[in-house]
Amino acid sequence: MLALAGFPLGLDFVFLDPSPDAPAGALGRHIVSSYDDRAALAALADVSDVITYEFENVPGDAAAFLARARPVWPPPAALAAAQDRLEEKRLFDRLGVPTAAFEAVDSADGARAAARRLAGPGVLKTRRLGYDGKGQVRVRTADEAAAAFAALGGRSCLLEPVVPFSREVSVIAARSESGDVVVYPLVENVHEDGILRRSRAPAPGSVQEQAAGRARSILDGLDYVGVLAIEFFEVDGTLLANEMAPRVHNSAHWTIEGAETSQFENHLRAVTGMPLGSPAARGVSVMLNLIGDLPDVAEALRIPGAHLHLYGKTPRPGRKVGHITLRADDPAQLDSAERRLAAVL
Ligand code: AMP
Repeated sequence: MLALAGFPLGLDFVFLDPSPDAPAGALGRHIVSSYDDRAALAALADVSDVITYEFENVPGDAAAFLARARPVWPPPAALAAAQDRLEEKRLFDRLGVPTAAFEAVDSADGARAAARRLAGPGVLKTRRLGYDGKGQVRVRTADEAAAAFAALGGRSCLLEPVVPFSREVSVIAARSESGDVVVYPLVENVHEDGILRRSRAPAPGSVQEQAAGRARSILDGLDYVGVLAIEFFEVDGTLLANEMAPRVHNSAHWTIEGAETSQFENHLRAVTGMPLGSPAARGVSVMLNLIGDLPDVAEALRIPGAHLHLYGKTPRPGRKVGHITLRADDPAQLDSAERRLAAVL
């Protein structure tokens, strides 16, 4: 999706991805390599003017290696923070961005003690390599916390309370090298089994300015360049940051049709030193992820305002294989289109 947005800007792309059938391979030269193969990274740097990533488990060493040869945006420091939930929470604290309480857990006994101190329902999360609901377990007692620590492989974790949120929202923003910032309208998200299912924007409600302020604190605090996404829990009108992604984000795929400038275009504008484009919404949009298998595509496309995006991935349970965005001029039209789509899905 980055490349598709970049071609009209006159950009060319070279991709590095370990999978020989990576979807991006259809759009430019594809270096098939692990993320830590120095020769492959050097080959990538050799042919690139600027390097970016859209997957936050790229090893920090690889980003640092590339950054010695070429500009790497977003900054490797943002990547490092996003890869470690504990570092991420500490960053939120340092920059004054409210987040749920948390405690580091490094042993089964530590898990027990932290659960006793929490004295209520909690979520034990691995510090690293958790995504789409993987690497986390809900716990209610000290014994459950100890068992969860073992079930998560005895890896370093953190324990946080189950947050009684009224909804989940995300903010997506972009910052240029000269420090200009644009903030997209807030997005309301629904997750099931830890996987994003549905995003709607602009989200109704009055927390847009709060979200924008938190995004600015992180963007400026990290001297960030590119698109950043922050996911929040909304509790009694206050936004608590859950996690951030230093990249284009699934909850902003609606911006392809639903915003004046898509997140992909603004990310590329930022990392290549072009001026940022308007993040204003065009009407209202809902994005639904296609997870596990494909719907009746022709039926979906009959719905006014429906836009289909297939990623060319082999369907398997739990895998995001595409998304559909519905865009409409007003909420009533959008609701009616979504009801029709629900029948197709
Ligand atoms: P995460 O991997 O942290 O993004 O978590 C995936 C999803 O699990 C979130 O989007 C929430 O729906 C849910 N979740 C994670 N942490 C908590 C929490 N502390 N309290 C309530 N729900 C949570």
